[in-house]
Amino acid sequence: YFVDFSPTKPSVYSNLERSPRCMLVLSTRHNGGDPTMYEKYWQQVGDKTTIVIPGWQSLSYFSDVSNLCWFLEPEFAKEVVRLHKVVGNAITENRHIVVGTGSTQLFQAALYALSAQDASEPISVVSAAPYYSSYPSITDCLKSGLFKWAGDAQRFDKDGPYIELVTSPNNPDGFVRQSVVNRSGGILVHDLAYYWPQYTSISFPADHDLMLFTVSKSTGHAGMRIGWALVKDTEVAKKMTKFIELNTIGVSKDSQLRAAKVLKVVSDSCEPSSSEIECFFAFNHQQMDMRWKQLRVAVKESGLFSVPDFPPQFCTFLGRAFEPQPAFAWLKCEEDINDCEGFLRDKKILTRSGKHFGFSPKYVRISILDRDEIFNLFIHRLSKIIS
Ligand code: PMP
Repeated sequence: YFVDFSPTKPSVYSNLERSPRCMLVLSTRHNGGDPTMYEKYWQQVGDKTTIVIPGWQSLSYFSDVSNLCWFLEPEFAKEVVRLHKVVGNAITENRHIVVGTGSTQLFQAALYALSAQDASEPISVVSAAPYYSSYPSITDCLKSGLFKWAGDAQRFDKDGPYIELVTSPNNPDGFVRQSVVNRSGGILVHDLAYYWPQYTSISFPADHDLMLFTVSKSTGHAGMRIGWALVKDTEVAKKMTKFIELNTIGVSKDSQLRAAKVLKVVSDSCEPSSSEIECFFAFNHQQMDMRWKQLRVAVKESGLFSVPDFPPQFCTFLGRAFEPQPAFAWLKCEEDINDCEGFLRDKKILTRSGKHFGFSPKYVRISILDRDEIFNLFIHRLSKIIS
């Protein structure tokens, strides 16, 4: 039995408790980490994020012809800048904002913009293993003549230019990262999808040349398909905009307007003057804290697994130190279990093997962002697997 993740069929979850034969899917095949945990907060907020879009609105392709990124809704851009100010996780001054259909589209736009059109061979694209499993498949899906996946950045020794993807905190293992290749001719893309205070301490405002963010992991609205890039170089921002023009002639205005409203409510909720609703990040930080505590107890009880330990770091946003509590658990099967995914599948828990992340199959990635019922059932099943 496979659990259908369709949110239109919530009844499937109530059957789970009754049927131990049901598989628990904690990492979906496309890229995993469906952020349904956040429904709880947004349900409490109720109508505050509701917007009404009349039929005569959003007809034009254009949002702001005076902006380099001509399909960027000014209201969305304003709320992006405000949110980064409120959280203190990225510098927005002297940067272009490029909006994308999720940060997945912006990643592709960045590869297009950063590779030379007249190079004799494709530029190498690398990331330190374990890396986000979609990077290789997205990079190579069209067999581009401009760029080519070249694997683990730690083993990369080819001369010449390269693009290094730095994911911090990292998907799948949650560690804070810096570039590892450190050679001239390298161009860095910082994927900061998880650099938000519910997951990790905000230690400084990130100040890199090209930074990617997404509502999927910040507010939990993965289905809205909105991401944004903060880009220092004007030519790079222009080429990214061109890619999106060629790819989808812009980005849904309806989604941008909805994202603007959601970001506004998040920022409002965390202003010191807000008393109406709890700060979005404080609430979800607490949820993640509880889940990681439960996970660590279950891991200890079983004696068969381990998860990484992280040093605490001071967070400028929450004003105290805490240990990272990543969106994924990078679970290692100890002892002589070499196929951790297969082992857990036998115990009716579906996960994603470490081999998809350029790493050992002794590891699996498990999403921590599921709904309470699924997460609790997962903890229950994990703690029952005794050494
Ligand atoms: N980057 C990383 C590191 C991710 O984990 C994800 C989502 N799993 C993405 C990018 C894609 O985000 P989006 O939904 O905005 O395309």
